[in-house]
Amino acid sequence: MARLPEAAALTLSGRTLITGIFGDPVEHSLSPTMHNAAYAALGVDRVYVPFHVLPEGLAYAIRAIPALGILGVNVTVPHKEHAAGLMPRLSAEAKLLGAVNCIVNRSSSLYGDNTDARGLELALRELKVAVGGRDTRGVIIIGAGGSAAAAVLASKRLGARRIVIANRTRGRALGLARRFAKPTIEVRALDALLDRELLGGAALVINATSAGLGSGRFPQLDYRSTAADCVFYDLLYARAPSAFLKPALELGRTAADGALMLLNQGVLAFKLFNRLAALFKSLGRNAG
Ligand code: NDP
Repeated sequence: MARLPEAAALTLSGRTLITGIFGDPVEHSLSPTMHNAAYAALGVDRVYVPFHVLPEGLAYAIRAIPALGILGVNVTVPHKEHAAGLMPRLSAEAKLLGAVNCIVNRSSSLYGDNTDARGLELALRELKVAVGGRDTRGVIIIGAGGSAAAAVLASKRLGARRIVIANRTRGRALGLARRFAKPTIEVRALDALLDRELLGGAALVINATSAGLGSGRFPQLDYRSTAADCVFYDLLYARAPSAFLKPALELGRTAADGALMLLNQGVLAFKLFNRLAALFKSLGRNAG
């Protein structure tokens, strides 16, 4: 489960440049620890700050980014989709996902990008998840928010032939499914998680809900019907196994929390915010 070192003590100066994260809640986020550890390791005068931004304050907070000279911010629950609609420009990936997890400030001009799908894809590849190729089993994605869209794209890039979205709000899941061409994405209600046939045919089950982040209990799921090699991946990361992962671990299934995705999407975001090649040049080092 997620274990990151405590950040080294930071020293701020009159020249410190700011990056950060907008979320509600935001206090659970490990991104500040991760990014500040990277700044400390590089010895650069930059800081990454958590900003608790309420939904009604998101537009104001975004407008403040160029005004305050902030280099860039991550966007987390529940703002990713709303933020996409507030951006003057979007990357192709953010447009496809309909969600933004990075707002990048380039000379006071903002654009929205999304590193979640790449981050998740890299995490699933590291876990050697077998979807695609000769494996015709499916992927079940629980949730239909911004990060569920990333889970759909990552599953497609891994070559999944069957993708099922199970969500509480059907309309939202249909909207997400419509955004993607082949394979056709099936939309089901949460009670599909008790469908033995569906669970038995899954190679991967991804939790992309915010249940566990103060938005209610995780729905019931028929873990026993899954194959012995079915992998459970929770986008949520926590110090202890989540309500989604615990039963899977008890059955001996491979199960992992979102720490690896967090790390991978964070590395990509760090590069975007800090223009790594230019930063390394200024430090007299190679970007590698
Ligand atoms: P959103 O707010 O956009 O979407 C949340 C989804 O969760 C919705 O589909 C919602 O259903 C569903 N949901 C919420 N509560 C419940 C519940 N009690 N039972 C069933 N479904 C529920 O959130 P995001 O997509 O941005 O984030 C989702 C999760 O992914 C968060 O835990 C976040 O921390 C994590 N995440 C982790 C990352 C990482 O790097 N590891 C990166 C990105 C996200 P409905 O549509 O009905 O409201």
